[in-house]
Amino acid sequence: MRFDLIVVGGGHAGVEAAAAACRLGKETLLITHNLDTIGVLSCNPAIGGIGKGHLVREIAALDGVMGKAADAAAIQGRVLNRRKGPAVQAPRIQADRQTYAKTIREILDTYKNLHLLQDTVLELIIEGEMCVGVKGRISGCIHSEGVVMTTGTFLDGRIHVGNVKHDGGRAGDPSSIALSASLREFNLPIGRLKTGTPPRLDKRSLDTDKLSIQYGEDPRPKFVRFDRRSLQLPEVPCMITYTTPATHEIIENALEMSPMYSGAISSSGPRYCPSIEDKIVRFSDRDSHQIFLEPEGLDSLEVYPNGISTGLPFDVQLAIIRSCPGMQAARIVRPGYAIEYDFVDPRCLRKTLETEMIKRLFLAGQINGTTGYEEAAGQGLIAGVNAALAISGCESWVPDRDTAYIGVMIDDLVTDGVTEPYRMFTSRAEHRLKLRSDNAELRLTRRGYELGLVSEQLWDAYRQYESELDSRRRWLKETRIYPNRLDERQKKKLGAGLKRDMTLYELLKRPDIDYANLLCVIGSEADGEVDRVGEQLKIEALYEGYVEREEHDNKRHKKYADVLIPIELDFDSIDGLSNEVKEKLRRLRPATIGEASAISGVTPAAISILLIHMKSKGWLRHNKGNVDAS
Ligand SMILES: Cc1cc2nc3c(=O)[nH]c(=O)nc-3n(C[C@H](O)[C@H](O)[C@H](O)COP(=O)(O)OP(=O)(O)OC[C@H]3O[C@@H](n4cnc5c(N)ncnc54)[C@H](O)[C@@H]3O)c2cc1C
Repeated sequence: MRFDLIVVGGGHAGVEAAAAACRLGKETLLITHNLDTIGVLSCNPAIGGIGKGHLVREIAALDGVMGKAADAAAIQGRVLNRRKGPAVQAPRIQADRQTYAKTIREILDTYKNLHLLQDTVLELIIEGEMCVGVKGRISGCIHSEGVVMTTGTFLDGRIHVGNVKHDGGRAGDPSSIALSASLREFNLPIGRLKTGTPPRLDKRSLDTDKLSIQYGEDPRPKFVRFDRRSLQLPEVPCMITYTTPATHEIIENALEMSPMYSGAISSSGPRYCPSIEDKIVRFSDRDSHQIFLEPEGLDSLEVYPNGISTGLPFDVQLAIIRSCPGMQAARIVRPGYAIEYDFVDPRCLRKTLETEMIKRLFLAGQINGTTGYEEAAGQGLIAGVNAALAISGCESWVPDRDTAYIGVMIDDLVTDGVTEPYRMFTSRAEHRLKLRSDNAELRLTRRGYELGLVSEQLWDAYRQYESELDSRRRWLKETRIYPNRLDERQKKKLGAGLKRDMTLYELLKRPDIDYANLLCVIGSEADGEVDRVGEQLKIEALYEGYVEREEHDNKRHKKYADVLIPIELDFDSIDGLSNEVKEKLRRLRPATIGEASAISGVTPAAISILLIHMKSKGWLRHNKGNVDAS
């Protein structure tokens, strides 16, 4: 058998990689352990959130798969951070697990050049320095012009529940031991990481009267902007409970039985998705942690208790659950577990996600040390596109840090590597006021179309949107409003009044004026009715000044790149820095401001705080010829 491209793995990275290569016209084979697990959500039944939702919006802007499946499978959704500015807002949905995977399969089935094969890949076929195929356990040697590996948590995966250990890539799935050994043979730099998942509960065993209910927003937010389908699944709300002092006591008494504390697992886990054991130890002053009881689906009787991932023994898991309000009689249907697995140090990758050592071998997803469906999908798309471009002999494409969160993630991974599973946060992006969830299409769809990634249908809808934006923006910038020509009704609508004449665009920059107010003030026929274009222009006008400021700050930080950080500086004493930033600065001890800025997670805002602190101590002037920070 011979294909243009082989994608190993049917998780979120594999799906996007295969779909992207197909959109670029490549005969693609997706080979995976079990065709029934394509697009499976291994952990929580939710997509999006801050940073992660931004990634899904970018994937959608490039006509990828994840946003479409998430919209189709949503049973509840909210825009997170509604009270904060649009730059840090992003959609998050709860998904019906089965509909999600079913939709992914339906989308994949529309690609006539996609071939699916159920088999286990045992090794790569390398000729010279080039990857030219894979060897399947049943199918034998399959040749191709390139391979994208997206094997997630499966490489030498080992599952732990208390002191019970067994090989496994995910509950119910095998570990990829032979493939991991094959990668080691080719000297790829391999390390170990861990993650975990909570037990799943029988919904019927919960006392819902003792739980608070959380509904989603109506209308439900969507990831795909130009999808006009109104069909959506009915809502299933989340429920909320919390851990109690009794829960904490149970965990403290059982700590030595946790694989993370007994020494059975020594690798790092995700800092922001810690196990409940970690939370109790790290935040010992707290006597309660919230637990979101997330529905697993429309008809599912299973509930996902988000916030209590654990590798403790089964009987301890049950005691933990039963110590929380509303769960005193809860039954576990799937035990929680911790998993340790191999990952490849992403510093051995180019930005295209091709390995430096083996040509045409691309890696994407959790294999590169990330955590999360969205991070995996974003990398999958880039690996799929670049594998297809390389096969065609075309120039590669990777978005820059100031174009997309996908670009930020890839740059962070290949430049800094990982010391713990990497997840996306808005604070990782120095251009985050520019990289908003609302403008993903404006940043990416045109380039996606030029590459051949974006369908004619999406392109037409986008162009219509773009031209409407352009013409209304022009109108707003050309139309002036004068204080002495306002009638009483207009003055009332304007509230804070108008001190000088200005364009409508300038007026729209005022925080108290949204597009609906603006239409009311000028007495437009569409009084009060705001469409997406109006919303977009409001955000654009509001952010214009802030984006300029952000660019200015970024340039200023570059100017101070060579400023030395004195050895006596105690990062812990600086007010305003987050604990994560303090910890990273303390551990990595950057010698200069430039080195500090290059640390993933050390934000431009943190650098500004650092510069102000250094200035207050009189430390800026003494450094090699640099001027004072202002
Ligand atoms: C226990 C657990 C807890 C998690 N907790 C979280 C969390 O709290 N938050 C979060 O954001 N994310 C979490 N995740 C991570 C999330 O599931 C992954 O980040 C995401 O699924 C990674 O996508 P991927 O495509 O890289 O790999 P996966 O979704 O794992 O897919 C890997 C695919 O490769 C296939 N495969 C592997 N080896 C072979 C082989 N040799 N031959 C053929 N096919 C193969 C598998 O069958 C599978 O289809 C968790 C995952 C697990 C397992």
